Amino acid sequence: MVSSIKAIRGMNDILPSETYRWIYFEQVIHQWLASYGYRNIRTPILEQTDLFVRSIGEVTDIVEKEMYTFTDQLNNDSLTLRPEGTASCVRAVIEHSLLYSGPQRLYYLGPMFRHERPQKGRYRQFHQVGVEALGYGGPDVDAELMIMCSRLWKLLGISGLRLEIGTLGNSETRAAYRTHLLEYLERHRNKLDEDSLRRLHTNPLRILDSKNPELQETIENAPKLIEYLDSESKNHFDELQAILQDQGIAFMINLRLVRGLDYYNRTVFEWVSDQLGAQGTVCAGGRYDGLIEQIGGKSAPACGFAMGVERLLALMDQHDPAEMQSNLDCYIVHQGETTRDYAWKCAEFLRDKGLDVILHCGGGNFKAQMKKADASGAYYALIIGDEEVKTNQVTVKSLRQMSEQVRLNLNDVMQFIKQ
Ligand code: ATP
Ligand code: MG
Repeated sequence: MVSSIKAIRGMNDILPSETYRWIYFEQVIHQWLASYGYRNIRTPILEQTDLFVRSIGEVTDIVEKEMYTFTDQLNNDSLTLRPEGTASCVRAVIEHSLLYSGPQRLYYLGPMFRHERPQKGRYRQFHQVGVEALGYGGPDVDAELMIMCSRLWKLLGISGLRLEIGTLGNSETRAAYRTHLLEYLERHRNKLDEDSLRRLHTNPLRILDSKNPELQETIENAPKLIEYLDSESKNHFDELQAILQDQGIAFMINLRLVRGLDYYNRTVFEWVSDQLGAQGTVCAGGRYDGLIEQIGGKSAPACGFAMGVERLLALMDQHDPAEMQSNLDCYIVHQGETTRDYAWKCAEFLRDKGLDVILHCGGGNFKAQMKKADASGAYYALIIGDEEVKTNQVTVKSLRQMSEQVRLNLNDVMQFIKQ
């Protein structure tokens, strides 16, 4: 026997018994973003490796160990499956000069790839909805991004999410802070793990993002960046909080929030659930005013976030509203010498009228076809035999209720089903 080929570890098939929930989720997403004036952008899944190295930062988990990078055999280019969407979005905006016609509210949705240890809520191919507001510098747009999330949780029926916000100041803030942090970490060198020791002199701020439980106390007691905050960043942070308060959005300040990517400055935020264990962050983002210039564009401020679709769907598990299910209206059973052409025409006629219809394929006797109709989940079986063809009718049988079957003119079927 030929050995079977399996999907790659950490990369999941999403089966029809699940996809209806994804489709429902995606529909909500598109409507929600449209209601805030955000427009969809679609970029390739593969990019030059350099794009991610330059944007996410060399000394980060993603670039150091999580990227799927390979050499294109044809021209020796180093290519990478996108681990996130911001870099690609910004690249596309620069490449097509979108900012020349003014600031842009954009979003995308699709698979991302990271070589992580697969576990619940953490996969190697996972999906994100990314939202980016490019060309906006004020705290108002930071607040907009958080407020719109809060509306989404309501639309999806998700409750219990906590908004944590923080600030990273500007590059001078971080330079000043870096010196003090380094001094502190040097003093506690013996408590650091291998990763942190390696990052001590390349990117000490990254150490604060460590998930290692043994490091948490050291991290907790480290000096805080907010003590070195420049006054403009402080005003920005204060104003953001004032808008959130005015709009009744509850939040807490988390001074430890550094985020796993280097490009952030000023505002950073996360939405966290307590129901997902260690993988509790469902949405994360922040301001990245330096990124556009850093990857070759004309300097412009920007802010954005990404949500983990699998984690949000896991939270939606408790709510499986009926409208998420697809509803097949009828299954057409047909048998006889003369039925073929008529059955096809009936199916297309009913689809024209907006019904979802399966036309039985593959022949078989009446009983076998009725079994398939039952298993299809349809509300009605429409039965067509030679008699029905002669009279231009169909026999309608409910598959969900005990009731007599009725023979109807094709034109009356719609009316009957609607009742
Ligand atoms: P984490 O701390 O969980 O590794 P991160 O900081 O690496 O997250 P981001 O790069 O900010 O995550 O991505 C935004 C969101 O995408 C996360 O909050 C999470 O919901 C989701 N996400 C990130 N990595 C994965 C993954 N490997 N599998 C599933 N979802 C993920
Ligand atoms: Mg990560």
